[in-house]
Amino acid sequence: MRLDALDDGQYGYADCDDQHPALVLNVDYATAGGGPYFYKVVRHELLHLLGASHTGKDDSAATADNPVTMATCVSYGNFTGATAIDRDSEIYLNWAYSALSNRQLKSNIGYENGLADWGASNGTVSNAATGGIYDSAYASYYPTGTSADSFLRQSMRLWTGNDSSVEFRAVINARSPSSATTTRVRAALWTRLLSESGNNGCAYPRGLQNPNNETVTANYVLVSQSAAETVSTGSWTSVNSPWTSVSVRDGWHLQLRAYGNSSGDYAVWFDHVRAEER
Ligand SMILES: [Zn+2]
Repeated sequence: MRLDALDDGQYGYADCDDQHPALVLNVDYATAGGGPYFYKVVRHELLHLLGASHTGKDDSAATADNPVTMATCVSYGNFTGATAIDRDSEIYLNWAYSALSNRQLKSNIGYENGLADWGASNGTVSNAATGGIYDSAYASYYPTGTSADSFLRQSMRLWTGNDSSVEFRAVINARSPSSATTTRVRAALWTRLLSESGNNGCAYPRGLQNPNNETVTANYVLVSQSAAETVSTGSWTSVNSPWTSVSVRDGWHLQLRAYGNSSGDYAVWFDHVRAEER
């Protein structure tokens, strides 16, 4: 890592030379900037060294966290004090670089980071195990509505660019805590379209030209859904929605839904809840 005199507005760069990779910071910002400059820019350039490329400016259309870890063309005043990696940055890294089969479209899929990034509609959710080497974490969801409107969910935004045509599906591991009741689960994936406009001259992958200027369609549309499948008590049951073809878009606002039994039935355990692309 070294300091150097760079153009005004350039915060740093990563030199991905195989033999001598380097992380270079703009001496002017490093001297005057402090705090957010260091942990935003150093993390950004380190991720370049690991192979990551640029995302858009905003984190999530759902939460408007800003900026993302791999953002570019962001004004200095928009650096925030947040230090944790944000949801859409984690999803972007999972999508591009996960070692799991298929491209992964969710963050914190195993609840090893508690309930971060997850929410519940018409129900309550708790983290049923603290995690660790011997005791893997999972989510316990207790539905309070109907089987049609009670679900655990995660919403996220991902710029995919002009990738070739792809298929999406939802994948859930589910388990019943009690054999006294029949527990049924549905996996579903809903989408809204993300469009960019204009060209801001910054470098993005896959033909994207300005993901800092996005438009999101108003309503979620159901893309893929499984039947309500009975899950086991003693072991995890995999519930998958069918692979469904989607057309090429600038990006996607995706919502995964893990539906549980209607109110009156017992809780449902969820683990490895994710959406996949292939
Ligand atoms: Zn960069």
